[in-house]
Amino acid sequence: MPGRLHSKTAIITGSSSGIGRATALAYAREGAQIVCSDVREQPLNDRPEGTSTTVQEIEKLGGKAMFVKCDTSKAAEVEDLVRRAVEWAGRVDVMVNNAGIALEATDPRPVWDYPESYFDATLAVNLKGVFLGTKYAALQMKGQAPLPSGDRGWIINISSILGLNGTPGNSGYVASKHGVLGLTKTAAWDCAECRVHVNAICPGYTATSMTSPFWDKADVREKLERMHPFRGLGEAEDIARAAVFLASEDAGWVTGVALPVDGGYSCM
Ligand code: NAD
Repeated sequence: MPGRLHSKTAIITGSSSGIGRATALAYAREGAQIVCSDVREQPLNDRPEGTSTTVQEIEKLGGKAMFVKCDTSKAAEVEDLVRRAVEWAGRVDVMVNNAGIALEATDPRPVWDYPESYFDATLAVNLKGVFLGTKYAALQMKGQAPLPSGDRGWIINISSILGLNGTPGNSGYVASKHGVLGLTKTAAWDCAECRVHVNAICPGYTATSMTSPFWDKADVREKLERMHPFRGLGEAEDIARAAVFLASEDAGWVTGVALPVDGGYSCM
């Protein structure tokens, strides 16, 4: 049986660790070839399986992948990332704008004490980076031939439950993730006439290097677990499965959504 993403080419930003890495591996298992992209090729220290790169893991699965170094906050680098993918594969079917940072994870501050430098750095990666990835992917996708389904591409932006809700001490992160949802809805309108899907995923708290600094503290862990009706922290693979759906023909009539994948957090 061909996989659900058989012969699609996907770019995934921030793919060396966490949710991006799990998405790259899930896509490879479903038959896609992957352009892995990150500011660093080695994974951050969050996975038990060691230090192999995402490309190496995909090759172990028998899949095809390449790595392109790219800082998503830099327009020239994102434009070059898409260009390199097209050189490699001839087209870009799926763009996952996943790269993100959370400076507040180790240093939450109330708004009056929130450093301007944190705000600027967070917006540059989490919002401008997603804008640039959406812009250059859409530019490529709108000019390429449609697949048999009639679709020219699938763009998936990783927002957060903190794109739907506030939380104390996280002005920059929460503002950036709300911005991703506004961008997603507008780009969905813009891209619809070319039959390019633009959707967002809103993960709940998920076990990656981003959450490990506070997840190890028993009191914080207990509090956060209580906020998820399914009582826990999600796994990166939980988010990856939703990203497979949104890149597949199963999402043929889906665009402009903000899909919570959060063990029920957002129904509180
Ligand atoms: P992570 O820290 O494990 O991985 C993030 C990856 O992005 C890293 O490999 C890092 O090197 C890369 N990166 C950082 N800045 C970059 C840049 N400027 N250009 C390219 N790559 C860059 O974190 P994660 O939890 O896997 O986060 C992935 C996405 O999911 C982020 O957008 C994050 O905000 C979002 N998210 C995470 C959670 C969670 O609880 N972990 C919850 C909701 C949303």
